[in-house]
Amino acid sequence: MWTPHRMVYIQAGPEPHAHDCPFCAAPGRSDEDGLIVARGVHAYALLNLFPYNSGHLLVCPYRHVAMYDQATAEETEEMAVLTQQAMRVLREVSRCDGFNIGINQGAVAGAGVEQHLHQHVVPRWNSDANFFPIIARTKALPQLLGEVRQAVADAWASA
Ligand SMILES: [Zn+2]
Repeated sequence: MWTPHRMVYIQAGPEPHAHDCPFCAAPGRSDEDGLIVARGVHAYALLNLFPYNSGHLLVCPYRHVAMYDQATAEETEEMAVLTQQAMRVLREVSRCDGFNIGINQGAVAGAGVEQHLHQHVVPRWNSDANFFPIIARTKALPQLLGEVRQAVADAWASA
C-alpha cells in the first residue's frame, strides 16, 4: 500500500530541537503571549516578533518541518487558506495597498528560523497613512505588538 503521508513523516524525521523553536513554542502559550492571531487544525498565524512592517504576519504549520516540500497536503492547504484570510483581515484592519508574501527556505535564502517552515505576509502601503504607524509613534514595541495582535485577532474572529 502506497502511503505518501507516512513517507513525508519519515523524511521529516524526529524533532530534536523542537523545544528551542519559537514556532513550536508559540502554540503552547496564550494567544496574547504567543502573538497568535488565528489557530487552524494543521497551521496557525502569528505576528512576527521582528516585523518588517506593522501587521507583519507569519503562517506556520504546527509540525516542526523546515522545507515547504516536507509539509503535507493538509498543511499546505491550510497555510494557503490562512494566508488568504490574513490578506483580507490586514486589508480591513490596516487599509494596506499591497502585500509581500513569501517563504525563505534555508539560512542562505534569509530564513531567520530556518528549521521551522513559515510564510511571511507583509502588508505594504502607498504612503504611511495607515492605522498602525499612528500607534507606533506613541507606543513601545511590546505594547505595539500587543495592540496590533488584538486588532488583527478581533478582525479575524469577525471575518
Ligand atoms: Zn518548530
